Amino acid sequence: MYCRYCGNEIGENEKFCSNCGKGAESKSFSQKLYSHDITKLKTQKEMKSPGAAAAIGFFMGWIMLGPVGYIYLGQWNWFWLTFVIQILAYTLTFFIGAYIILPIIFALHQYQMAKDINELWKLDQQGAVVDEAGTDEDYREEV
Ligand SMILES: [Zn+2]
Repeated sequence: MYCRYCGNEIGENEKFCSNCGKGAESKSFSQKLYSHDITKLKTQKEMKSPGAAAAIGFFMGWIMLGPVGYIYLGQWNWFWLTFVIQILAYTLTFFIGAYIILPIIFALHQYQMAKDINELWKLDQQGAVVDEAGTDEDYREEV
């Protein structure tokens, strides 16, 4: 685990960073959710609107296309994953339960995911600014 403030390595059992003294927080639910290779969030080139993501998930959810919201968020793995889960959910609940609940789940999750993506985006921008004086060739090419 690395300190989120200074990047110093922190032992799993340590509560504070030995370098900067800030608290080492344990992983949040969403960090765990996105820690696998398949579910890992992909950094986007621009900010995403949580409201738009929620609206897509909700309204498309009523025509069984809730996962489309993940395409808007640029998360294709999540699209395929939830697409498969959705089919299972419809089958297991004989359409009724999933039909009512899924639009709400997609709306809430895509809303939160858009926020998480924007956090990533901000970190990415900060990283790019820091790297400007350094060695980040990709960033220079983009500018
Ligand atoms: Zn630190």
